[in-house]
Amino acid sequence: MTQLPILDSRCVTCDGAGWVTNPLWREFHRKQSAAGIKTSDPDYWDGEPDELEEIPCGECDGLGRILTDEGSRLLDFLTTHGVVKITRSEETAKKMRGIRS
Ligand SMILES: [Zn+2]
Repeated sequence: MTQLPILDSRCVTCDGAGWVTNPLWREFHRKQSAAGIKTSDPDYWDGEPDELEEIPCGECDGLGRILTDEGSRLLDFLTTHGVVKITRSEETAKKMRGIRS
């Protein structure tokens, strides 16, 4: 039986979770820690960011997986023949095209 090549791999940016800590939150926690304020302190949450603490990973578009060259070619083939329809963001699509070149 012929085996398929490896078609994708774990995203190193989010370690496969598909989510990353919002940079605003990372900076907020860093500042609070640098100021010696503990999460148990009532003042800790003063000035917390208005945005979600976890956001979809921009590297893998929240999938947690990155296509290899072989995976990208297979996806192109399936898309060309109408088997699948790409719904990823244009930014991710550009990155994926960049991987192949
Ligand atoms: Zn990722």
